[in-house]
Amino acid sequence: MTDFGASDTVAGIPNFPPPQDVPELDGFWNAVERGCIALPACPDCGVWQWYPLAGRPCGHPGELEWRDLSGHGTIFTFTRVERSFLPSGSNPPYTVALVEPDEAPEVRLVTVLVGPGSAEPVIGSRVTLSPTEFETHTLPTFSVDTR
Ligand SMILES: [Zn+2]
Repeated sequence: MTDFGASDTVAGIPNFPPPQDVPELDGFWNAVERGCIALPACPDCGVWQWYPLAGRPCGHPGELEWRDLSGHGTIFTFTRVERSFLPSGSNPPYTVALVEPDEAPEVRLVTVLVGPGSAEPVIGSRVTLSPTEFETHTLPTFSVDTR
C-alpha cells in the first residue's frame, strides 16, 4: 500500500506529497517550495509542455527551461469531493479544480481550492496561488479571488 502521509494532514486538503522519483518534475516542485508556480517551456518559441517530457513538443533541439508564472489563473472546471474514495486520509470535503494559468491557458493544473469561496466556486472565476504547507512539503493550492 502506498503511504500518502496520512499522519501529516491539513483539514480539508488532501495530502499527496510530491513524487520523489520523477526528476522531470523537480522544477515544478522546487518552485512550489519557493511559493510560486513554474512550468517548462521551449526557450526558442515559448511553447509550454505540461507534463514535462524529454525533448520539446515543438521539435526544437535541446532542453526545456522552467519559467516562473504569476500564480494567477482561471477555473476551467472543478468537482467537489464529499467523501474519501482513496485510503489517503484526505479529510473531505474539498474542491479539486483544473486551473488555467494566465501565462499558459493551454495548460490545466490540477489543484485544490482553499479559503473563502472554495466550497462553491464558479467556472471562470479568477484564482490565485495560495500554497498549503505541510510538515514535510508544500502543495500548490489556489484560493478564489473574492473581488
Ligand atoms: Zn520551440
